[in-house]
Amino acid sequence: MKTNSVKHLRFIFAVLLFPVLLFSSAALLQEATLQKGELHLIFNQAYNKSNIRHFVLKKPYREVFDLRKVRLSGKKVGHSLSSKHCRSIRISQYKKSTVRIVIETGKHYICTPYQPLFSFSSYNIPLPKFRVSGKSKHQNQNNIKKKIAQYIKDTSSKVTSIYRHPPESFSRKPVRKVSNRVHHKELIVIDAGHGGHDTGAIAGGKREKDLVLQIAKRVERQLKKKGYRVYMTRHTDRFLKLPQRTKIADRKGAKVFVSIHANSVPKKKRNKVQGVETFFLQTTRDAKSQRIAARENKAVLKGAGNRLSKKVIVDSVLNGPKIVQSNKLAIDVQRRIITNLRMHYSGVRDGGVRYAPFWVLVGASRPSILVEVGYISHPRERKRLFSPKYQELIAKGIAEGINNYLNNRRKEIDFD
Ligand SMILES: [Zn+2]
Repeated sequence: MKTNSVKHLRFIFAVLLFPVLLFSSAALLQEATLQKGELHLIFNQAYNKSNIRHFVLKKPYREVFDLRKVRLSGKKVGHSLSSKHCRSIRISQYKKSTVRIVIETGKHYICTPYQPLFSFSSYNIPLPKFRVSGKSKHQNQNNIKKKIAQYIKDTSSKVTSIYRHPPESFSRKPVRKVSNRVHHKELIVIDAGHGGHDTGAIAGGKREKDLVLQIAKRVERQLKKKGYRVYMTRHTDRFLKLPQRTKIADRKGAKVFVSIHANSVPKKKRNKVQGVETFFLQTTRDAKSQRIAARENKAVLKGAGNRLSKKVIVDSVLNGPKIVQSNKLAIDVQRRIITNLRMHYSGVRDGGVRYAPFWVLVGASRPSILVEVGYISHPRERKRLFSPKYQELIAKGIAEGINNYLNNRRKEIDFD
């Protein structure tokens, strides 16, 4: 009787799954290139053009093509297309099996796409003959992304060469010299993650919430030594909702917001995964960043999470200059921590600067980063993390990173 019903279930599943499988066999868009004033699309198989929905959006004028039953073969397809005949060409996986192409011209034109004779796996979309000037909002966002990539490239060569222009080169110009007094009054918000009933990660009998509070207090001392004012989101073992944490930063008019956390992985990997990582807010497809974000976001998703929609993250992400600044801050902090630790400890892994959609960074309207100071799941790293010397090196690194960042920021503003 039992085996029979299992067989039945299998059959029912098979019937239910069949159409799903059928629909999921979408065509792949493999290439999108510009040739002779046309956008050429190449699919991996014959593609029926009746699947394409072509329409126009206005203000600004855009030709839109929804290619149903299509998936992008990779992230890079049509990634950096630009033409003098339109403001921008954007290609994205709009829905699970719909690719959307948006050609923004700002001006009306007659667009008659076609499938070349005997070439069922391609589709050509003519661009307008006129030239356009001015950049679209999306192009600006792409430029921001490029700037970030360039900044990372410029600065990621070696830990020792922190800036391409050493600070001395600035102070040689007496007129431009930045007063040290300026930052004496600047306010930094330090956020020790978790707290209260929210313990954060636990490993080897140690709790993340305790570790990060210890380090946060050391950072506070270090920053005060440098003349900064510091506001701590918590000074004791108490629980704070994540949105409260960034609100504090906003209300107090802080220069930067730094959230301190420790990482952890399941038992199987605990001897392998270790290192310091610094994050700034941005949505990501990187699976590892997503996993870490998911873990850190747990508290907010349980609580008042639903009020904060995905849209909030996206809106924050589109807030370009803050991303660039947060990214610079992250690079400076990460680098100083690693440099300091490596001077006294061997085998310190540099997890680098990455981006992830952390809730705690959403809505902060100033450069904001989240530092994962190490893995408390890793036996050796856990031992180090709870030693005063190691904590002090991390704290110094964070404070020096913030200081470096703000010094450079002041110079940038000075030279603007
Ligand atoms: Zn955490």
